[in-house]
Amino acid sequence: MAVPKRKTSPSKRGMRRSHDSLKVEAFQECSNCGELKRPHHVCNACGIITAAKSSLSLNFRTIALLHGGMIS
Ligand SMILES: [Zn+2]
Repeated sequence: MAVPKRKTSPSKRGMRRSHDSLKVEAFQECSNCGELKRPHHVCNACGIITAAKSSLSLNFRTIALLHGGMIS
């Protein structure tokens, strides 16, 4: 079995753990009901998908996927 040659120094351990901290979840207010929701996700309160105005086609595509392709 492979065994480390040296004990990991506090510095190297700290460098490895520098990416381990938990990050705050992104959230924004729903434009329809004002509930806090994750960006680019369906609102848990009202079910509306809100995105930037420029990505309207993506919006419709996402809705179509959610409805099983009823909207084409
Ligand atoms: Zn909403």
